[in-house]
Amino acid sequence: MRIHSYSLQRNGDIMTVIEKLTRASHLIDMNDIIREGNPTLRQVADEVALPLSDQDIILGEKMMQFLKNSQDPVMAEKLGLRGGVGLAAPQLDISKRIIACLIPNPEDEEGNPPKEAYSLEVIMYNPKIVAHSVQEAALADGEGCLSVDRPVEGYVIRNSRVTVEYVDKNGDKQRVKLKGYNAIVVQHEIDHINGIMFYDRINEDNPFAIKEGLLIIE
Ligand SMILES: [Zn+2]
Repeated sequence: MRIHSYSLQRNGDIMTVIEKLTRASHLIDMNDIIREGNPTLRQVADEVALPLSDQDIILGEKMMQFLKNSQDPVMAEKLGLRGGVGLAAPQLDISKRIIACLIPNPEDEEGNPPKEAYSLEVIMYNPKIVAHSVQEAALADGEGCLSVDRPVEGYVIRNSRVTVEYVDKNGDKQRVKLKGYNAIVVQHEIDHINGIMFYDRINEDNPFAIKEGLLIIE
């Protein structure tokens, strides 16, 4: 009888997910992203300890690098990435309150690159919505999510303007006011650290219902 002893020969160290993802050589790819059904996506994530640890700072940078790669046609093809404008740590099976957003500005009508490449480029630790408009808004084309491998149609009802407080990667407290598409993306990511999926905010009976005052963002 053959004795299977490989498990004893394995390196005894059990690498945690965050250790794996923050290794210098690691590039986050779609294999690192958990999908709907995984219970981590339904947890309320833990606050990040302050001052920020090097590991948490590196994780934030790795998340931002993923978004950059996902928007770069060559890197996205090479790594097999779906394009994304936001990522939250729970999507990596790390239940911490960290999000990254990278929202490119569009080209002008002649196809020239914008003056500023991004309208929002930010890593947020412990982000919190401290104020919001009464007015609600939704993207005309609905939303998608790197953790959801199927289209879900309907208006995702959010606040049209939000004020967010967070700690930046330098450990400094920041406060920003967001509107339009940027406000939608940041709310989508903050939802992830609270265990909320975008489709939770779609009207089940009538996904394209327009309540009075709802702003549709094209
Ligand atoms: Zn998402």
